[in-house]
Amino acid sequence: MGYRIGFGIDFHQMVEGRDFWLGGVKIPFHKGALGHSDADVLLHAICDAMLGALNLGDIGTHFPDSDQAYKNIDSKILLQRSYQLVREKNYSLVNIDSTVCLEAPKIMPHAIEMRKVIAAILGISMEDISIKATTTEKMGFVGRGEGLVAYANVLLQKDAS
Ligand SMILES: [Zn+2]
Repeated sequence: MGYRIGFGIDFHQMVEGRDFWLGGVKIPFHKGALGHSDADVLLHAICDAMLGALNLGDIGTHFPDSDQAYKNIDSKILLQRSYQLVREKNYSLVNIDSTVCLEAPKIMPHAIEMRKVIAAILGISMEDISIKATTTEKMGFVGRGEGLVAYANVLLQKDAS
């Protein structure tokens, strides 16, 4: 035994004049996610899922947006540090399953690149990282293009002792 499951969710507004970072990859688009960091909604959801699996709080607990140190920070650093907290508890990542909800742009052409980037940071196979995408059929704030949401589940396994 020694398995722990975690769930993470994150939201950001989409606004003109910001770079659009998702899954550690810069995606060409006229809008980007608004936030204190680079506002990478997918990496934030994965961080929260890993922290949640071990009841370590959330990304805001460890990397508060009131701290200037995290202003415009590359979320790949937050992902790496979150996984470091997991490793300090002697757990390893088994797999990630995630879904991003947004109206535009199309992100699936970038999914392989995202999986490669995330796999390199976490030291796992890209086969163990699933990234899916959906629109909300024009409904709600996602459908109007005002924002986007990412959901992530992770499974952690305790290291053999
Ligand atoms: Zn976020």
